[in-house]
This record gives sequence, structure tokens and C-alpha cells, in this order.
Amino acid sequence: MAPLLDVQNLRVEFKTRAGTARVLDNVSFAVESGRILGIVGESGCGKSMSALSILGLVPSPPGQVKGGRIMFDGRDLLSIAPEEMRRLRGGEIAMIFQEPMTSLNPVFTCGDQIAEAVRLHQPVSAAEARKRAVEMLRAVAIPEPEARADTYPHQMSGGMRQRVMIAMALSCRPRLLIADEPTTALDVTVQAQIFALLRDLRDQTGTAIVMITHDMGAIAEMADDVAVMYAGRVIEKGPADAILDQPAHPYTQGLLNSIPRLDLDPSGDLPEIPGVVPPLTELGHGCAFADRCPHAFAPCRTIEPRHVTVSAEHSAACHLLSGMEDAA
Ligand code: SF4
Ligand code: MG
Repeated sequence: MAPLLDVQNLRVEFKTRAGTARVLDNVSFAVESGRILGIVGESGCGKSMSALSILGLVPSPPGQVKGGRIMFDGRDLLSIAPEEMRRLRGGEIAMIFQEPMTSLNPVFTCGDQIAEAVRLHQPVSAAEARKRAVEMLRAVAIPEPEARADTYPHQMSGGMRQRVMIAMALSCRPRLLIADEPTTALDVTVQAQIFALLRDLRDQTGTAIVMITHDMGAIAEMADDVAVMYAGRVIEKGPADAILDQPAHPYTQGLLNSIPRLDLDPSGDLPEIPGVVPPLTELGHGCAFADRCPHAFAPCRTIEPRHVTVSAEHSAACHLLSGMEDAA
């Protein structure tokens, strides 16, 4: 079966004063219905830009899609009409963001906002939409949903607001849900509840989820499949089990080392990957991770590594895997 969403060789550039930044460089990943794809990496690696590209929301200018395809259910989202994209967005494809306060309208009650989202995409009466809004609040485990429907966003906790966002996103029964750092602003307990909620909804509705995060712990908790991004590229991808058990790319290994392991290190001190993501305007020809990589050797500075198959469906772009080191 073809994946519901299949992003192929996506290239996006931004014109900046410092030069042209290749914010997405031949990015490819796919997600099937009923599965959760985790896209992980530090900030500035292209995770959110990948999401915006799928939604047709790359700010242009200064951004420009330079190539590739984004196949959604057989249609290329890069070539459909703007009004069809608008119809898909919030309908078949929905999105939730990190900070719900910026996406919820402070002057409308939560119930009215969900009802409005329903009516935007479905021809139902106001009363029916209101009923659907209350049902959705119940589905995301908001206590006393009838009463809560009449409250305003500022009257709720951060965790409740994120639930309202999820209710709103799911009210149109999307086939694809994109969740960009959905729990970053929330405490650990609420985060665990939101994860459980998303997994339940996936199980019940078969919605495909793309979850964007900087947190490998969240990946371990949620993802079926993983794409690791670095400096605008997917540098490792595959089934979550394979990547968590046998990360092949030094960057992925570094991200995994920074998950708290209280059993190993009771002090809670985490080794961090030294250095920062390089400016995307200054990427040379080699591996973008070379300046931070503990294993870098000469060819890493001049030759861009290609993806090498590690095991079924699991690949990584690192010269250590291609035998280049032996040849050097
Ligand atoms: Fe490190 Fe070289 Fe592999 Fe890049 S290609 S991750 S620099 S070993
Ligand atoms: Mg981001």
C-alpha cells in the first residue's frame, strides 16, 4: 500500500542577507495511515519547515520550494490549486502547535472555536457543530465538557488548552495530523497524558501522525518510524525500534545519549553534543555534522555522505557506514 504521505527529495531555500540558505535539502520521508512518524533533531534542523511545506505554508518570499514532491493520497501537494490546499488544511490535514495560546482565539469560547472549525469543513447546523464540539472535548478527556465548552482559553491550564487544540484539530476527522512539539511547554505528567491521548486517537481513527520533536524520549514513547534531521537533511531514518536500539549515525547516537537515564547516571547530568548546528548559508560540500562529530575524518570535510542501508528500511548518511574510512 502506498503511504498516505510521501515526501520525496524536497528542497526549500531561503534568501537571506547572508546568502541562500538551503533549509531543506533533498528531504524524503513517508508515513502510512495508522502510524506515527517522529521527526527529531535540534532546533533549526528543518523539522518545522518540513511541516510548513506539507501544509503549503512556506513563507514565500523569502522562502521558495525548489524541487521535490509531497504526495498525499496520490495528489502532489506542491502542484494543487491554493483553494484545494486550503480545503485540505484543517480538513484532511490538521496541525497542532507547541503553544496553543497563539493558535486559540482569546475572544471566543473553546466550544465556539471548535464548532467553527467543524463548520468550516462540514455542512452541519450550528447546533450540530456545538454538539460535535462537546463530543470532541469529551474525547480529549476534558472533564465536564458541556461546561468547559463555554470557557475562554485564558481560563484553562496549559495542558487543557493543548487538549482543546487537539480537539479542534481532530474535529474534522483528519487523515493526517501534524503535531509540532505538541508537549514541549507542558510538564511531564501532562505530557504523558497528551501522548496517551494521541496514541488512543490514532488507534481508534487510523489517523497518520507526524510528530515533530527535539526530544528522543518523546520519540521512544510515541514513534513507530523515525526521521532524524540535521542541518536541513534527513541523516537517518527507519523503524523506531531499529534506530533506538542501533543508531547508526553519530548525531543520532549523540541525541540518544542526551536522554536522561537515571539508572546509569543518578546525578542526572546529560552529555550534550558539543557545538551548534552550522549556519545553513555556509554549508560546504562535506558532512554538515563534521565540526561536531567525534569520528570525523578527512573525506567528511569534502564529500557529502549518501544514505547507506543499515538494515531493512533503516538507512543513515555517514561515511563510517560506506567503508570510506577503510579506503581513506
Ligand atoms: Fe561524522 Fe563523517 Fe559520519 Fe559525518 S560522515 S557523521 S563527520 S563520521
Ligand atoms: Mg520548530
